[in-house]
Amino acid sequence: MLVEEKVRGRSSVSADLIRWMIGQDTGPDRPPSLAVLGYREGMPESRSQSIDLVVVGGGIAGLWILDAAIRAGLSAVCVEASKLGSGQSVCAQGIIHGGLKYTLKERDLSAASPISEMPALWADLASGDPQLGPDLSEAVMSSPCTWLWRTDSLASRLGMLGAKAALRTKPSTVDRDERPALIRDAPGAVLRVDEPVFDTRSVLKTMALAHPASLIAVDGPEGIEFASQGGRVSRVILRNGSAEATLEPRAVVFAAGAGNEALLSRLGLDDSVAQRRPLHMTLLRSPSLPEFHGHCVDGNRTRVTITSGRDADGRVIWQLGGDLAESGVARDSGDQIAFAATEIRSILPALDLSTLPHAAWSTYRVDRAERRTRSGFRPDDAELVSLHEGRLLVAWPTKWALAPRLAAAVIEALPPEIASASTSPVTLSGFQPPEIADFPWENRTWTSHSDVRSAAPA
Ligand SMILES: Cc1cc2nc3c(=O)[nH]c(=O)nc-3n(C[C@H](O)[C@H](O)[C@H](O)COP(=O)(O)OP(=O)(O)OC[C@H]3O[C@@H](n4cnc5c(N)ncnc54)[C@H](O)[C@@H]3O)c2cc1C
Repeated sequence: MLVEEKVRGRSSVSADLIRWMIGQDTGPDRPPSLAVLGYREGMPESRSQSIDLVVVGGGIAGLWILDAAIRAGLSAVCVEASKLGSGQSVCAQGIIHGGLKYTLKERDLSAASPISEMPALWADLASGDPQLGPDLSEAVMSSPCTWLWRTDSLASRLGMLGAKAALRTKPSTVDRDERPALIRDAPGAVLRVDEPVFDTRSVLKTMALAHPASLIAVDGPEGIEFASQGGRVSRVILRNGSAEATLEPRAVVFAAGAGNEALLSRLGLDDSVAQRRPLHMTLLRSPSLPEFHGHCVDGNRTRVTITSGRDADGRVIWQLGGDLAESGVARDSGDQIAFAATEIRSILPALDLSTLPHAAWSTYRVDRAERRTRSGFRPDDAELVSLHEGRLLVAWPTKWALAPRLAAAVIEALPPEIASASTSPVTLSGFQPPEIADFPWENRTWTSHSDVRSAAPA
């Protein structure tokens, strides 16, 4: 459920600051605490432009919120400090979950409902229905489905039964000859789940191309300054090289993933509303790997989730997530690769890693950035924290798949005067749209499979 709550201010705002905020103190002796507001000498005197909404952060959340705002007739920009999606979004496995992972654990059953509508919605967007949201017909759907299989353990059998019973969109059992070759001889049933998988960069690119004039690259996090009081932002100053612009937004959304914490701190607000959950992802590369998207289920956990992409040279890359990535946080890269190789041998005996041409491994660490939960587990839905009646919103989609729900909730949470506003689009001369972040497998160090400890086939 989307939750709206107040964020506590860390410090009260001094009278000097308030005078400065309302324009009565523009002299050279500014109070030192102006640093809290991001003020620095040389704050621009450029003419301010009014705007309905400034979205900070251009991952899947920020891009979706920008699109929803423009569709709602608002003037809006999305400001990115690095490359679009450079936190989690470009790393995501791109699976539009329908609740499968959540139904495996009893405590997760409630989570299946908000997310269960997402696979069908995304599939419709991919067929280009403009009524529903952004046109994703140019984005690449890597697979229309994922596969679910198990090993021969008892826990694995029970997990499979649980998943079958609890999913709203029932997965279908496929005959042996319809199974992907890799899991043709898997013990027990193999299920096809209608969860589409998207190429994350292609989605980010399609969404960015829809609104190039509203996407603004700035000089890192310091390329955005805020004038604010108790979290109410009155001005946003943007800089990139010699370009500079001042905006007076009616509302601001922080959709900066892990960057939300620093943004809250900069406004003097409590950043403990956010949490991070780390992953240690493993990558397997070979020009001869088959493209495959699926989950191996073992008891109440997704033992390994495999998705496939391609690198700039056309080689197939497997991203290995699921429990392997969660438990892998405690392993160093060498141990994680060795463990991953052992896992792949165990769950996919049909794949002979030793004969796979030019097989190589790598790993990377990334944090999932979310709204804090009491348990420290994943929130059940997209999450929004609202301050000043929606004038400052802090947004986390929780899952890539839930970005449409988050964007709809943001538009609903905006203050009423925005809905009736008729602000003209702003013109920000001298700024460029940001680039799209590279996939996490570009520019990495790789370990040849032949050098992997204890990973040789038995
Ligand atoms: C390895 C991995 C696999 C995943 N797989 C899936 C999956 O298969 N399916 C699924 O549904 N979900 C998945 N998720 C979750 C999903 O990726 C995230 O929920 C989602 O991408 C978060 O998007 P975001 O836009 O909030 O954050 P991010 O993608 O982190 O984007 C934040 C953006 O804000 C920018 N930024 C940061 N600070 C500032 C600042 N101060 N000023 C301006 N810009 C700033 C960053 O550069 C970045 O571009 C996965 C997550 C991970 C880590």
